[in-house]
Amino acid sequence: MGVHSTSDKEWKLKCFNYHAWQTGQHGAEKIVDNKWHDLDITIDLKVLPCCAYHSKCSEGVTGDSYLDSLPSDWNDLKKHTLEEILNHEVFTEYLTDKNWQNPETCPSFCASVCGEYIKEKT
Ligand code: SF4
Repeated sequence: MGVHSTSDKEWKLKCFNYHAWQTGQHGAEKIVDNKWHDLDITIDLKVLPCCAYHSKCSEGVTGDSYLDSLPSDWNDLKKHTLEEILNHEVFTEYLTDKNWQNPETCPSFCASVCGEYIKEKT
């Protein structure tokens, strides 16, 4: 799925495994914590960032050209430690807040599951 910016909408993405959000006065939301709180591990011991990747990409194909081009064992706990996998650029450079909060750089699968244009700019 492609993501296109528009001039009158604000892009927002909440990663339900990474972001902790707090609703303040007047309903305004803000990010209060950024770290991986939870991960999914497949039955064949592949570490995935969330249940959406687990449930919707059961064959390991996400439709994201970068993720789908990676070696099939990049996240395999039979070959790497969890620390090594979490230090992979997927987690340190690709699935990051900086990329998520820009519709032009947001990973396509994440955009389709968790991203949205929320309101018109004033
Ligand atoms: S699809 Fe992406 S943004 Fe949504 S919860 Fe999973 S890793 Fe986070």
